[in-house]
Amino acid sequence: MTEAHTETVLEVHHWSDTLFTIKTTRDPALRFRNGEFAMMGMEVDGKPLLRAYSMASSNYEDYLEFYSIKVQDGPLTSKLQHVKVGDKLLVSKKPTGTLLWDHLRPGKHLYLLSTGTGLAPFLSIIKDPEVYENFEKVILVHGCRFINELTYQQLIDHELRDNEYFGGAVKDKLIYYPAVTREPYKNYGRITTLLETGKLIEDIGMPSLNVADDRFMLCGSPSMLKSLSAILDGMGFVETRKSDFREYVVERAFVEK
Ligand SMILES: Cc1cc2nc3c(=O)[nH]c(=O)nc-3n(C[C@H](O)[C@H](O)[C@H](O)COP(=O)(O)OP(=O)(O)OC[C@H]3O[C@@H](n4cnc5c(N)ncnc54)[C@H](O)[C@@H]3O)c2cc1C
Repeated sequence: MTEAHTETVLEVHHWSDTLFTIKTTRDPALRFRNGEFAMMGMEVDGKPLLRAYSMASSNYEDYLEFYSIKVQDGPLTSKLQHVKVGDKLLVSKKPTGTLLWDHLRPGKHLYLLSTGTGLAPFLSIIKDPEVYENFEKVILVHGCRFINELTYQQLIDHELRDNEYFGGAVKDKLIYYPAVTREPYKNYGRITTLLETGKLIEDIGMPSLNVADDRFMLCGSPSMLKSLSAILDGMGFVETRKSDFREYVVERAFVEK
């Protein structure tokens, strides 16, 4: 069994009937890198029931945060969505993952492309001062079906920019591009289309994508990852494999069963 720490729920925030955020205590021994995921869950019928969860909090924060879907018949989230402050959760001791900025070859612009809860790992990354030290621009794209799924806007648009330590870097470097596909919105369309048509680049005033300068992290549904990887491959970008650090890295936001 995965070794896990027991943590206590500090806060639960329900964004909607499909999305919520949990904050828990953090065992001081837990170490992770921004962008990684842990196994998280709870005891059900006396047995641990754990699922992969990206760390939405940064590695210097003294709490843990998880951004979760509610799958109505999902073994874990049908129960997890009812947790209350003071409840106990399990968090594995050894987070891991591929969304690491230094597993990319040095570049100028870091594009963080997410759909749905694929935003979660990027929440820890956009709070990481080292990321701003290593890239001239950090572009966070969050694609959802509906406007009410564009969560964390207060953090992204205000709190990070007002951060007393790295707010200045965020103001200079972070570009946030929320987009929706199923209702009218200022940024309308799938990330794949927005990339292919050049609309994304044009809207945010960035130069055309090029292999010398642009780096990507992708986190979303299996089909989004497949389509986006194919588009990037077609433009000459290569995915990092093991220690061959290249232009993009990929993590699944969930697995289709
Ligand atoms: C590397 C990795 C990181 C992950 N990080 C997160 C995270 O930060 N937040 C999170 O909510 N989930 C995350 N997941 C998915 C998570 O592991 C579980 O699948 C999810 O919590 C649902 O668990 P469940 O037992 O209720 O249902 P499951 O039996 O695990 O899933 C049932 C079905 O629900 C759908 N589904 C599951 N998760 C999602 C999702 N996040 N978005 C849309 N549809 C989904 C899929 O079709 C899946 O087949 C991650 C998965 C992987 C592989």
